[in-house]
Amino acid sequence: MKDQHIDTRCVQGGYTPDNGEPRQIPIIQSTTFKYTSGEEMGKLFDLEKSGYFYTRLQNPTNDMVAAKICALEGGAAAMLTSSGQAANFYAMFNLAGCGDHIVASSSIYGGTYNLISVTMARMGIEVTFVSPDCTDEELDAAFRPNTKLVFGETIANPALTVLDIEQFARAAHAHGVPLIVDNTFATPINCRPFEWGADIVTHSTTKYMDGHGVAVGGAIVDSGRFDWMAHADRFPGLCQPDASYHGVIYAERFGKEGAFITKCTAQLMRDLGSIQSPQSAFYLNMGLESLHVRMDRHCRNAEAVAVYLHAHPKVTHVSYCGLPDDPYYARARKYLPNGSCGVVSFELKGGREAASVFMNSLRLAAIETHVADARTCCLNPATTTHRQMTDEQLKAAGVPAGLVRMSCGLENADDLIADIAQALEKVQD
Ligand SMILES: *Cc1c(COP(=O)(O)O)cnc(C)c1O
Repeated sequence: MKDQHIDTRCVQGGYTPDNGEPRQIPIIQSTTFKYTSGEEMGKLFDLEKSGYFYTRLQNPTNDMVAAKICALEGGAAAMLTSSGQAANFYAMFNLAGCGDHIVASSSIYGGTYNLISVTMARMGIEVTFVSPDCTDEELDAAFRPNTKLVFGETIANPALTVLDIEQFARAAHAHGVPLIVDNTFATPINCRPFEWGADIVTHSTTKYMDGHGVAVGGAIVDSGRFDWMAHADRFPGLCQPDASYHGVIYAERFGKEGAFITKCTAQLMRDLGSIQSPQSAFYLNMGLESLHVRMDRHCRNAEAVAVYLHAHPKVTHVSYCGLPDDPYYARARKYLPNGSCGVVSFELKGGREAASVFMNSLRLAAIETHVADARTCCLNPATTTHRQMTDEQLKAAGVPAGLVRMSCGLENADDLIADIAQALEKVQD
């Protein structure tokens, strides 16, 4: 697949049927798998052979779809998870445990912010949040001897800040740790973080990859480039024997290319069990088949909406990195030359109240806790996804109270703009 264009990988990656086999990927709707001898099955439990024995850990349908996502990102190994939350938790918890520390961009998805700052804190994992616009010195100062990873989002949901992936990768590598990038909003169509130095990529496949609001899911892709053994003291989970598998050393047995995903599957999926259902993986694959076609339309619609809002007197501010006066325009030109995503954020002159009137007046665009759907939808993060955060935290995350996040779907742009125009007419100045 490596020499094929990304469009072709979207359509045909991950599954190549043999003579007489199903053209569409088969849904292996089975919890378990049959073996003729106990010895053969035992080898799977010792990680001596790869194969399927129980769908809590692995399922062939999921692996076909994971292989496609792996090909899209240009990675070495990948796995699906039950949600984007599970993907981010597994990716981080695979490296950091009690007594460890992580560095994360402060401009990230609210669910990930809670995961890191509340739930992972309860597990004894500390965090230092840094601005996505921090200087090299500020970033450097965030590291501690027990730092295990750096985390950020290519395009942050919902603040729409763009991460300087090269800057964050450089800092991470200088401190002997990998950079994990949540690439949900950009998708590999618009940005492949491995090409800029990221080591691990995560996705909420619930968003553009699915694209139709059908199934919640996540994915983790490993570039296979981080040299765990070169930092063996920092990553005992990968570089020291795992007692739960007769002392296997993941980085030794599976190498740079296989260690991270194998450990994540064999250990975390086994013990925590956040597997994606094969049926959901099938739906996800249907979405992936048209991802390259849809992303282009999402981006063009968002650009048209952003330009319209930018010129509107009732709108004080529009965040869309495709607008030349956006603070992230230059970074977007570098990392997202073909387009960013379909999401536009903006603030109305009338603040929280105006946002409410505006959203209630929309006819085409629905109010939903969702983005990246074929149908346009919108949300006021401060009163929904981010309502646990204080005003101060909201500000740090780049999400002021009156912000409206609009996810432009695949409708005709003129119809979307007409809908926005009539809703803005109802808003008091
Ligand atoms: C939605 C989202 C998540 C969480 O994914 P779920 O599939 O809802 O669990 C994580 N990161 C980003 C950037 C998201 O947009």
